[in-house]
Amino acid sequence: MLNSMRDTPADQAELRGDCEQCFGLCCVALPFARSADFAVDKPAGKPCANLREDHRCGIHARLRQQGFTGCTVYDCFGAGQKVSQITFGGRDWRTGPPEHARRMFEVFPVVRQLHELLWYLTEAAQLPAARPIHQDLREALEKTERLTLQTPAELRTLDVGAHRQEVNALLLKASDLARAGFRGRRKDRRGADLVGARLKGADLRGISLRGAYLIAADLTGADLRNTDLIGADLRDTDLADADLTDALFLTQPQLNAAKGNAGTKVPNSLTRPVHWDA
Ligand code: SF4
Repeated sequence: MLNSMRDTPADQAELRGDCEQCFGLCCVALPFARSADFAVDKPAGKPCANLREDHRCGIHARLRQQGFTGCTVYDCFGAGQKVSQITFGGRDWRTGPPEHARRMFEVFPVVRQLHELLWYLTEAAQLPAARPIHQDLREALEKTERLTLQTPAELRTLDVGAHRQEVNALLLKASDLARAGFRGRRKDRRGADLVGARLKGADLRGISLRGAYLIAADLTGADLRNTDLIGADLRDTDLADADLTDALFLTQPQLNAAKGNAGTKVPNSLTRPVHWDA
């Protein structure tokens, strides 16, 4: 039986950035390069010139107009508040010695990767079709959560890539189970180069677009229910009137990077990007 529509799992809703509880870590720890997404260059560990003393963005309401589209796409999956309030016990990087700030900025990208895995695992563990591996998924969730709660020293030396591989094997199984009802109808396009592809109105239900390059592709009116979109590049992909309910492993950053309209149906776990209505 194919999956029915899923509600937003409570713990998946918690895997969203909460800037009120964060010390602006993404605006300091991460680098960016002058491009279509960022108006200026900024090295890792240096505060963005637009970051205010209260850790809020000074141009939040005008990010796209001022050339910082990349900031509107980003989400930390809740890693910012975890690192700020738990890993470092609420101790602001501005108040400690330089070594304290440096450790915080090193740990943040590690926890961000772990939290992204928590997002996928939480979703997979809620998929009715993935019931045969629910126990494995729950164990992987618990292990990943435990890893996020390690000390800064442990997190800095963690082999996230190895853990990601373990999790990935489970997510592939979950995806196969969730898409089993569609098997044989059409071939998967995993990692496919679909940049600028014309897929208007396409029936893509149940296929794998895992890691596919869909930059600026026309997916208007496409049916993407039960489509595996993990890691797919959706920058400027046109999703107007597309149906993404029950799309597998779609994230908020992917949705934020795409174009959509009032007719785009998005999963309950995600928020319709504000710029779609602008
Ligand atoms: S422009 Fe604003 S959101 Fe983007 S990095 Fe700078 S302070 Fe952060």
